[in-house]
Amino acid sequence: MPKHPTIAIVGRPNVGKSTLFNRLTRSRKAVVDAQEGVTRDRIYGQMEWRGIPVTVVDTGGYIPEDTDIFNAAVRRHARMAVDEADLILFMVDGRTEPTAGDLALAQFIHETGKPVVLAVNKCDYLKLDNQVYLYYELGMDPVLPISSLSGRATGDLLDVILEKLDLSQLPEDEGPEDTSLKITIVGMPNVGKSSLMNALLQKEQSIVTPIAGTTRDSIDTSLRWYGKDIILIDTAGLRKRSKVTDNIEYFSTVRTHKAIQRSDVVLVLVDAEKGFGKQDKSIIDLVIKEGKGLVLVVNKWDLVEKDTSTMSRFDRDIVDEFPALKGYPHLYISAKSGQRISRVLSTAWNVGELRRKTVSTRDLNIWLQTTVAQYPPPAGNGKQIKIKFVSQVHRAPPIFAFFMNYPKLVASGYRRFLENRLRDSFRFEGVPLKLTFRKK
Ligand code: GDP
Ligand code: GDP
Repeated sequence: MPKHPTIAIVGRPNVGKSTLFNRLTRSRKAVVDAQEGVTRDRIYGQMEWRGIPVTVVDTGGYIPEDTDIFNAAVRRHARMAVDEADLILFMVDGRTEPTAGDLALAQFIHETGKPVVLAVNKCDYLKLDNQVYLYYELGMDPVLPISSLSGRATGDLLDVILEKLDLSQLPEDEGPEDTSLKITIVGMPNVGKSSLMNALLQKEQSIVTPIAGTTRDSIDTSLRWYGKDIILIDTAGLRKRSKVTDNIEYFSTVRTHKAIQRSDVVLVLVDAEKGFGKQDKSIIDLVIKEGKGLVLVVNKWDLVEKDTSTMSRFDRDIVDEFPALKGYPHLYISAKSGQRISRVLSTAWNVGELRRKTVSTRDLNIWLQTTVAQYPPPAGNGKQIKIKFVSQVHRAPPIFAFFMNYPKLVASGYRRFLENRLRDSFRFEGVPLKLTFRKK
C-alpha cells in the first residue's frame, strides 16, 4: 500500500479553494484547526478516492487578501504547503482572465518541479468550459474545468490527480521485515515532549542513533531497549529548530499528522495541571481514526498535590471528559524527576504487540454468541438485526468484519458497545479496533 499522498490546493484568494476543500473533505471532517489568529479555516483534512486515503491541504487562509502584495510572503506561505505536498492542485478562476497573481504563482509552481494539475474553477456549466483556453498560457498540463460549488467534474479531477501521482512511485509502508516499534510523542507546546524524549534516552542507557540524511518531516532516533528495536519519532525537537516563526503551529500540525501516520503507537502527552485542551482531543481522535496504538501520558505529575485517591480520580475524570479514552492506558509521570519513566516504553511496547494480535475465528464466534445473547442489537427501523458471523480480516490495526442481515441499520451506540466488548474480552487495551458491518 502506498503512503497517504498529500495534495496542496494553491491559488489566489477567492478562486474557490476552500469551497473545493470543503467538498472533498466533507465526509471526514477536517481534523486540525489552524493556529488562532491566522485563520479559523480548517487547513487540512482527509478524503478518500477510489479507496486511497489522501490528505488535502488548503492554503486559503495563508494568502493575503490584497492581491497586489504578491511578494515574498505569498511565496513563503505557498512554499510551506508545497513542500508538504506530493502534488499541487493549482486553482484559477475561470470567470476571469489570468491575473498577474496567477502568472507569478504559476512561475513559482514550475520552479518547484512538483507534479501539478491546473483546475479552472467556476465552470459551472458546459458552455463555460471554453474558459480553459485562457489558461493554456500558464504552460501546465493537464488543464481541467471544474466547479467547486456544484461538484461538477471534480471526480474527473480526482481521477487525473491519482493517475498523475503515479502511486507506484511513492514510498511504501515498511515491510514485515521491519520489526522495530515506531513511537511518536505528541502534545501541546511545553507539555514536556522533549523532556520525556531526553528522559527516555538517558534512562534506558540505550544505544542511540540519530537516523541521518532522511528527508522526513521529523527526526527519528533508534534505540535498543531490552534487546528490542524502538524508533522514537520526535516532532518537538524539530519544531524548536525551525526558523519559521509565524506558521509554526501550522507546520507542526501537518508534521504531527505525518508522524502519527508513520507510527505504531502514539504517546499523547497532557499536562497534569492544565488537563485536556481542544487540540488534545482532536489529536486523540486522529490517532484513533488512524488505527494507531494510544497511550495517554499525564506529565508533570510532580506538580500535582496528591493523596491516595488522586490517581484514580484522574482516571475517572479522563474517561468522563473523554469517553473515547476508555480502554486506553493512562500513565502518570514526571519527565523532570523521572517518576515512572520506565513504564512508558514497556506500556508502549505492550500496546504495540497487542495491535498486531490476531484472534481466531472460533474464539470470536463463541464470543459473539454470548455477547449477542446477553445484549441483542436493538431493532433498526422496526427490523430485527441478526449478526451471524464475525472474523478478523486485518491486523495492525485490527479490523473485524461482522456479517448480518441489515448492516446499515446498526445503531452507533451498539457499534461502540461491540468495540468496547471486543477490547475488554480479547485484551486489546490501547488499540483502536475497526468494525465493518457487511451483508450476509
Ligand atoms: P478561496 O479564497 O480560494 O478559498 O475561495 P472560496 O472557496 O472562499 O470561494 C470564493 C468565492 O467563490 C465564494 O463566494 C464561493 O462561493 C465562490 N465559488 C467557489 N467555487 C465556485 C464555483 O465553482 N462556481 C461559482 N460560481 N462560484 C464559486
Ligand atoms: P515540549 O515543548 O513539549 O517539548 O516541552 P519541554 O520538554 O520543552 O518542556 C517544557 C517545560 O516544562 C520545560 O520548562 C520543562 O522543564 C518543563 N517540564 C517538562 N516535564 C516536566 C515535569 O514532568 N515536571 C515539571 N515540573 N516540569 C516539566
